[in-house]
Amino acid sequence: MTRALVTGAAGFVGSHLVDALLRSGHQVCGIDNLITGDLENLTEARKSAAFHFVQGDVAADPDALRTRIEREASAAEVIFHLASPASPIDYAALPIETMLANSRGTQFCLEAGKHWDARVLYASTSESYGDPLEHPQRETYWGNVNPVGPRSCYDESKRFGEAMVAAYVRLGGVDARTVRIFNTYGPRMRKNDGRVVPNFIAQATSGQPLTIYGNGAQTRSFCYVDDLVRGIILCAESDRTAGLVVNLGNPEEHPIGDFAAIVCDIVGVALRIESRELPPDDPTRRCPDISRARELLGWAPLVSLREGLQRTIDAYRTATVVPR
Ligand code: NAD
Ligand code: UDP
Repeated sequence: MTRALVTGAAGFVGSHLVDALLRSGHQVCGIDNLITGDLENLTEARKSAAFHFVQGDVAADPDALRTRIEREASAAEVIFHLASPASPIDYAALPIETMLANSRGTQFCLEAGKHWDARVLYASTSESYGDPLEHPQRETYWGNVNPVGPRSCYDESKRFGEAMVAAYVRLGGVDARTVRIFNTYGPRMRKNDGRVVPNFIAQATSGQPLTIYGNGAQTRSFCYVDDLVRGIILCAESDRTAGLVVNLGNPEEHPIGDFAAIVCDIVGVALRIESRELPPDDPTRRCPDISRARELLGWAPLVSLREGLQRTIDAYRTATVVPR
């Protein structure tokens, strides 16, 4: 049995990761300051004696937080650092908090990893590639990021976090790796977090037109959350990923306009569109090259887009869905 620490545990991806780790018999300590997360996501986890929740900020006092974890739970053997606002409207509203979660928060995890001799996995993003000039994106591509644009608080702080991981690995003493996560969706995405999947599902299921930003030709590749979580755990368990960056995402690419039609088809409504302005610096194309994950981890997504969307829609139908 492994003792795991998950930061951002009350968020969308973090809570699914906590559930998967508990199902595999791990002891899990989850940290979250609830800035964008919700304790409701941990309802099942909190029923388990193997789970402990610490409400705390990974970017605040590192020694106090580490001592508190040791006192209330225990030193971890593996640390998953997921704490950070992730949706464009969240990080636009919380730019400083986002930058601190990925800079100080990442350092907290790396120092704790050194102190406890724990493995560290840092959750970075496909946004590290910015508006990519190489397609599909391989881990070796350095990216095309506007350092002062509206997305920069997220993109650049994730890149800083990656550089911090690389520096600790180079200095020695920490077994750390970075995953670059591409657009992921599934149950527990906040209904009003502004991302395209909750927006389109909310709109289609409530008879509203789907808000397409720009001409809808920009592409994204959507990974179901269970596939992502399986990849994250495999990556943390593997000795072959030490010091590396690994893309995790679904390599099936869809223009946003086509994606809107798929959502409407599954919901069973006619496609109606409301065009809105494309936000500045919105990446034109995004699709992961997952050769490295396939080769090192034997990982590839298993859940088809239609199946994953159906599961997500079923989960959303039980809740009130209010897009911003
Ligand atoms: P989310 O907003 O649902 O979850 C993030 C969680 O981190 C929230 O519960 C929030 O309260 C917590 N948090 C933020 N700052 C914190 C701090 N300083 N201390 C403690 N907790 C803090 O977002 P998500 O979609 O679950 O994303 C999780 C991680 O995965 C993020 O690091 C994100 O950048 C990365 N990621 C997600 C996607 C995706 O498609 N969901 C894509 C790329 C990368
Ligand atoms: N988008 C859209 N309508 C919406 C929300 C998003 O057309 O209601 C577009 C957005 O401009 C982007 C893509 O969908 O091109 C994915 O947006 P999201 O915010 O989900 O994630 P991103 O990949 O931009 O971080």
